[in-house]
Amino acid sequence: MKIDGGCHCGHVQYEAEVTTDTVVICHCTDCQKLSAGAYRIVVPSKETEFSLLANPPKDYIKTSNSGTPRIQAFCPECGSHIYATSVDNIGARVFNIRLGTINQKEQFSPTGQIWCRSAQPWAFNIEDVPRTEMQ
Ligand SMILES: [Zn+2]
Ligand SMILES: [Zn+2]
Repeated sequence: MKIDGGCHCGHVQYEAEVTTDTVVICHCTDCQKLSAGAYRIVVPSKETEFSLLANPPKDYIKTSNSGTPRIQAFCPECGSHIYATSVDNIGARVFNIRLGTINQKEQFSPTGQIWCRSAQPWAFNIEDVPRTEMQ
């Protein structure tokens, strides 16, 4: 399906072609640190099916838990995470788009979870945590 999205401030905007078949929750310690949260969620797109509509994100290169350098692309103005991808194979890469930046995000549900060994112990079950509709 065709999606579009962008960062919080609107500086970075993109469109892409993706499926809803792969929506991955990542519990790695990089995702925890970079998001300042418990995990991040990605939807993959082929590089050839991803286009920028506004300004490019800034790349931060971080060696991942699996030992590979990864580009962590984020908005240089507001800091929103946009996608992660590999350093090599430019043109044939996969862009793992951060779910929260996708305008159609409500149409996606998680299909898998990775790096569960570093997951926050409560992250698999927040069903019983008291909720309110607003703050
Ligand atoms: Zn921004
Ligand atoms: Zn991760």
